Amino acid sequence: MQKYGGSSVATPERIRRVARRVVDVYRQGHQVVVVVSAMGDTTDELISLAQKITANPPEREMDMLLSTGEQVSIALLAMAISDLGERVISLTGAQVGILTDSVHTKARILEIKTERILSELSAGKIVVVAGFQGVNAANDITTLGRGGSDTTAVALAAALKADLCEIYTDVDGVFTADPRLVPEARKLPVVSYDEMLELAHLGAVVLHYRAVECAKLYGIPLHVRSSFNHNLGTIIKEVGEMEKPMVVTGVAHDRNVARIGVFGVPDRPGIAWRLFQALADENINVDMIIQSATRNGVSDISFTVSKPDLRKALAVVEKIKEKIGATGYNYDEEVAKVSIVGAGMATNPGVAARMFEALARENINIEMISTSEIRVSCIIKAGETERAVRALHRQFGLDKEPA
Ligand code: ADP
Ligand code: ASP
Ligand code: MG
Repeated sequence: MQKYGGSSVATPERIRRVARRVVDVYRQGHQVVVVVSAMGDTTDELISLAQKITANPPEREMDMLLSTGEQVSIALLAMAISDLGERVISLTGAQVGILTDSVHTKARILEIKTERILSELSAGKIVVVAGFQGVNAANDITTLGRGGSDTTAVALAAALKADLCEIYTDVDGVFTADPRLVPEARKLPVVSYDEMLELAHLGAVVLHYRAVECAKLYGIPLHVRSSFNHNLGTIIKEVGEMEKPMVVTGVAHDRNVARIGVFGVPDRPGIAWRLFQALADENINVDMIIQSATRNGVSDISFTVSKPDLRKALAVVEKIKEKIGATGYNYDEEVAKVSIVGAGMATNPGVAARMFEALARENINIEMISTSEIRVSCIIKAGETERAVRALHRQFGLDKEPA
């Protein structure tokens, strides 16, 4: 199983190069299933096209539109493979039978039918599958959320019991921070599922977090590597208790967040429940939540959502505001989340304090904080992201080889 991301198939030349890589593996005697993303920035371009039509495109139609990007790239890759003289077939998510729920634009895979792929493989063909898409029970096209082609690949690897799942991208593997922001970032040879799950969830877009979830669930090791060279990349797998975990393995950042503040909420049982239930009913994921101390019987509640969900979330708050007796609300799109992740954190006190120290030295204000056993996240002003990530990378010595 191989997956190639958008930058790896961004141009006709790159598609031909991917075809050669695929054919090489096939000629070594392997059965090959390839998952591909849309070419280059196609998905972004389709989204801005929709926005030129309306500010509120129906989500079903959005999926109809976005899924076309991958339909283009599978057809072109199949043509390139065929041109090299091998038998090949391209299949959309619907043709494979990738069944999902009906949450358009962020659907979850429920089941994958393997009959079609298995019969094409046994007929000696290379199979090229469109990433990022599936169909719901009503046979409507769905998409899996940005970056979702990774999830298609891992879910297919699980369904087909593939012995290898390689994720080809435009960097050499998983780094200690996004190499675009931190030039000193180092490639990590091995990352545990749990650490990768946190990193992916906290903004390291190199892997979609549902892909990591699925890999962990089915025990599938992933190899994240570059499609531009033959270097070994990063292996994501279960890491035993015996191996000494790093206190901080990596730094992640996410600019795709927005903060909403709801003010003057009466201090009564059931208020938080009503607010967050109303958001959940609209399939809006709420991330960090803080409630201020109560003064004069009222408090403020702040929470973060992903940027694409902001309009929907504000509409919910507007509707429920009176019912929960809030006096007002505001929002801020110019925020970002910076996080440190490391399995060794659980047993090392003072890590959070060192994080806050690094940010304080840079004179960066922390607006919200959240923690788990193996991570600490802070909400800061978006404009300070790069400085914050670099300072944290330095603070935890990630630019140096571990002893
Ligand atoms: P693809 O199109 O192959 O799916 P993505 O753009 O989705 O590629 O993911 C690769 C990008 O992820 C890299 O170019 C890099 O900028 C970014 N990235 C963010 N965090 C990390 C990290 N910790 N390690 C490696 N890459 C990262
Ligand atoms: N093309 C989709 C996106 O840009 C899916 C993916 O690349 O994984 O989000
Ligand atoms: Mg991606």
